[in-house]
Amino acid sequence: MKTVFSGIQPSGELHLGNYLGAVRNWVRLQDEYRCIFCVVDYHALTQDYDPKEMAKRVCDMVADLLALGIDPDRSLLFLQSMVPEHTELCWVFNNVTGHGDLERMTQFKDKSATQPENVNVGLFEYPVLQAADILLYKAQLVPVGQDQVQHIELARRIARSFNHRWGKVFPECEPMLTNLPKLLGLDGKAKMSKSLGNHIPLSAFAAEKPLWKLLRGAVTDPQRVNREDKGDPDVCNVFTMHKALSTEEDLAWVREGCTTAGIGCVDCKQRLSGRMLEHFRAYVERRAAIVADPSIVQKVLEAGAAKARALAQRTMTEVHAKLGLWRSP
Ligand code: ADP
Repeated sequence: MKTVFSGIQPSGELHLGNYLGAVRNWVRLQDEYRCIFCVVDYHALTQDYDPKEMAKRVCDMVADLLALGIDPDRSLLFLQSMVPEHTELCWVFNNVTGHGDLERMTQFKDKSATQPENVNVGLFEYPVLQAADILLYKAQLVPVGQDQVQHIELARRIARSFNHRWGKVFPECEPMLTNLPKLLGLDGKAKMSKSLGNHIPLSAFAAEKPLWKLLRGAVTDPQRVNREDKGDPDVCNVFTMHKALSTEEDLAWVREGCTTAGIGCVDCKQRLSGRMLEHFRAYVERRAAIVADPSIVQKVLEAGAAKARALAQRTMTEVHAKLGLWRSP
């Protein structure tokens, strides 16, 4: 059985892009693969954050993942910083990673541009630590959004370089995309992202009002300025969300209504809002129950770290042997 690995930063707020681009896929993959999911808190250090909030952000992310259907009885779910082998393997991988390769990473360029006052080495190294995250568990498949594909390709090259220099330990990994690998934000322009503030946090699905506040302003087909203008659903980001969450009947209704101006964007968004609330109802209820009992997250993280460490240590023993390091005979 192939191994799947994917990580997510404890951003504090899982958003619809994370869900449709990655986590929804993770939930489905649990039926077919050996799945390992990691909350990557060390990756989060590359950006400014308030240390007083980090623990809560981690717990919130784990609660979200559990509530969305990640099942700790079937999948391994753990916190990156509780398994120090990740940073250990990262150091080893530094020695088979080209500086030029890292300079070419578009996410590094983008993030450097958004935080010019804090272009730290961690930000530069991010893909090397990510390669270590994946390869420590010898994962072959990495379900991510489009923005991560370049990093996964680099991880494959790192595995190849390690195997070539020191002997075969690692498999070659490949990205796995959903049918919505890049959801645009409410601005309809850039990737939905918390840092751009154009996101729909999953917390908005708890009630109609906060969701409507966000959806009401969502950019639709830019050519459809007035109610009587005919629109093109295929260039509308609201329709993209419909495609991910609504029924075939809804899609036909929107397509017909939008292209003939029979319905307005407000009607279309109201239908979407209803479908969203429906889709996330079970998540909202499960999440409330998980948050009410902090021992649930605690147990998952403790058990997850113990299992992950055992696997990670096994890989590191192989790595140490290949590197030729001294160990007690
Ligand atoms: P963010 O990009 O919001 O900081 P992460 O980097 O932790 O979040 O991403 C977690 C997962 O969600 C990754 O697999 C990433 O590719 C995916 N993802 C993030 N934003 C989107 C989006 N707008 N559309 C599709 N997938 C996304």
